[in-house]
Amino acid sequence: MSEMLQDRVAIVTGSTRGIGKAIALNLASKGAKILITSNEPELFPETLAEVQKFSQDSDVFEADVTSKESLEGMIKFAQERFGKIDILVNNAGITRDGLLMRMKDEDWDLVMSINLRSIFRLTRQVMRPMMKARYGRIINIASVVGYTGNAGQANYTTAKAGLVAFTKTVAQEVASRGITANCVAPGFIQTAMTDKLNPKAREAILSQIPMGSMGQPEDVADAVAFLASDQAGYMTGQTLHVNGGMLMT
Ligand code: NAP
Repeated sequence: MSEMLQDRVAIVTGSTRGIGKAIALNLASKGAKILITSNEPELFPETLAEVQKFSQDSDVFEADVTSKESLEGMIKFAQERFGKIDILVNNAGITRDGLLMRMKDEDWDLVMSINLRSIFRLTRQVMRPMMKARYGRIINIASVVGYTGNAGQANYTTAKAGLVAFTKTVAQEVASRGITANCVAPGFIQTAMTDKLNPKAREAILSQIPMGSMGQPEDVADAVAFLASDQAGYMTGQTLHVNGGMLMT
């Protein structure tokens, strides 16, 4: 199990903290070479050192996922540096919450750009090399609220629901080429994103989780690692829910 991703190359977007970092560490611990990407390079040295404890031949790339040039640069760098891309984990994401009546155009557009359009662009770019290699794993980080809706998150829930449909379509387009595309939909996970919740909102959320606690980034990373593995080779277009029982589909 520990070496099951030996020599695989994985790009993980938004991987210097939170869920993305846990994914990078998990895949590295199974032998994959990781391209850590983030918009904030300050955390690169620390994250790279942690990842390299497991997988020495890993690297970093600074990229703002709202920028087309940045994303093109990321894929070009990965191909030149590692010679291939086996696994793409689209993890970078933000929230810009507000009730719809007061939601600004900028908050809608930014969430769509980071949480949805960047994934369309990156996936489009990796498809060709993955098709040539007749191998690929595309894993998109969705959210429980993309299934349930959530007051105050019209932008975020729409992007995450769109991501699920996008993943199914990609899965159908590339299924015959040895490439799978799946989602992991976390429930409420303890990261900077959920640290922003006020105590009242936190209590309300916990009351909806049968397991009674928030999940940890590592819980999500384990599901991603499974989808990245050869053991998940016959799964595509699916969503794995990691939510403490909050939603049972
Ligand atoms: P987080 O701690 O806030 O991390 C978000 C990541 O996205 C950061 O690494 C950040 O990188 C990156 N990012 C944001 N804007 C970017 C940009 N313009 N360009 C490049 N990277 C950018 O959040 P998290 O909780 O780990 O969330 C990770 C993913 O899980 C997101 O897609 C989120 O929607 C999803 N999710 C989270 C939860 C939860 O409860 N936490 C639940 C369901 C789904 P920088 O350091 O460069 O800002």
